Amino acid sequence: MTIATVNPATGETLKTYTALDGEEVERRLRLAEGAFRAYRATSFEERARLLNQAADLLDADRDDIARVMTTEMGKPVTQARAEAAKCARAMRWYAANAAALLADEVPATADARDSGAERVLVRFRPLGPVLAVMPWNFPLWQVIRFAAPALMAGNVGLLKHASNVPQTALYLEDLLRRAGFPEGCFQTLLIGSGAVDGILRDERVKAATLTGSEPAGRAVAATAGDMVKKTVLELGGSDPYIVMPSADVVRAAEVAVTARVQNNGQSCIAAKRFVVHERVYDDFVGRFVEGMRALKVGDPLDEDTQVGPLASERGRAELEELVEDAVRGGARVLCGGARPEGDGWFYPPTVLADVGRELRIHREEAFGPVAVVYRVADVDEAIAVANDSPFGLSSNVWTRDEEETGRFTAELEAGGVYFNGMTASHPAFPFGGVKRSGYGRELSGHGIREFCNITTVWHG
Ligand code: NDP
Repeated sequence: MTIATVNPATGETLKTYTALDGEEVERRLRLAEGAFRAYRATSFEERARLLNQAADLLDADRDDIARVMTTEMGKPVTQARAEAAKCARAMRWYAANAAALLADEVPATADARDSGAERVLVRFRPLGPVLAVMPWNFPLWQVIRFAAPALMAGNVGLLKHASNVPQTALYLEDLLRRAGFPEGCFQTLLIGSGAVDGILRDERVKAATLTGSEPAGRAVAATAGDMVKKTVLELGGSDPYIVMPSADVVRAAEVAVTARVQNNGQSCIAAKRFVVHERVYDDFVGRFVEGMRALKVGDPLDEDTQVGPLASERGRAELEELVEDAVRGGARVLCGGARPEGDGWFYPPTVLADVGRELRIHREEAFGPVAVVYRVADVDEAIAVANDSPFGLSSNVWTRDEEETGRFTAELEAGGVYFNGMTASHPAFPFGGVKRSGYGRELSGHGIREFCNITTVWHG
């Protein structure tokens, strides 16, 4: 894939970049290794000072970087600004909380004595340079949710960002550098995906995190496995959004629209499969379709645009194929379903019903503003349909019934269960999935500890 900014709203190539050559990659790896040796010894206070500075700079840059993101991947500019603001909040959260999250743990005195020790503690030490292979859909957030905890833990970062967001990728390196992080603590490597294997095999790189597609995750995990290196994978999802009879259906339908089309529908935690109890099905689906139809699709730089183009021509073609396959297989189109004329990679908000379980769209991730609605008879069927997916990232349930709440909490196969609201990540909560959505967790204390050497320190 060429490393370039191509405006998805017009299809115009705005800027192309040359990938780093092997010599330059080698120089950057040496730099990362050297930077880690010094940076690992810095205090939490010093790291927090730098990260807070980065947050302030990002706040000041918000409008500019939002326009860059929108130009590179097409998200509505209002959402791009919100993403930048969220990144600054996450940086401040880790700056404020990392020392406590990584404080030494002291096992109970009785347990320590039982081992023959005078004193035992568990220390969270950094690992070294960590490679982050990141996607274009939240081009700032995906990186910051890795970088903020990694830097607070004393690791250093190497970013291989998606090839269609090079300006955002370079901005991130520049931001952290301007904030005062020593050279080499966070580097953007402009490289194609073919260069990842060699970098991950390098002894100086200690671990990797990847957010993206299953094939990319499998490739990185295979190499990391071969090299016995830790990985965290976040590989997308097809989250269920369940609406039960006790739900506030009006609110559930309103939130459902946002939950499906946020980020032009290209979010791993977007609700994608709407599983609705038959008693509220017609009411919910009627309102939902009306909401999807009413969305303003258009130029993502316009302040009132709600849905912009898909990020790439290939992404739109893949989404179209999924919808066409569903329609051929008997699905009914309740709205949308055909690409508009004109420039850019637009696709309309679309709702499909009567989707058979054998169809591709039932099993695959629809990465765009396409929703599938299912009618179910009871809580057992709702859980069965929700779990009938290779993915298990998050899930949403609308119910006021306590018994149902208990069942969904215990039985949904997902890394999150959000009741009476939509899934949204927050620095204080762990984020990640089960099944083919990946493994490991980002954010919270769980996320920051993923790339630590959890060391038992025993004193006899
Ligand atoms: P990819 O998985 O191809 O891209 C994500 C990142 O992985 C990019 O940096 C990419 O680099 C890199 N990459 C791709 N292949 C490899 C490889 N073999 N080894 C190492 N790195 C690799 O995602 P796409 O953009 O192609 O999107 C395809 C689908 O993936 C979407 O339709 C969606 O289902 C899912 N996805 C999920 C996301 C999520 O948030 N979980 C985000 C994006 C996509 P390069 O850009 O240079 O190819």
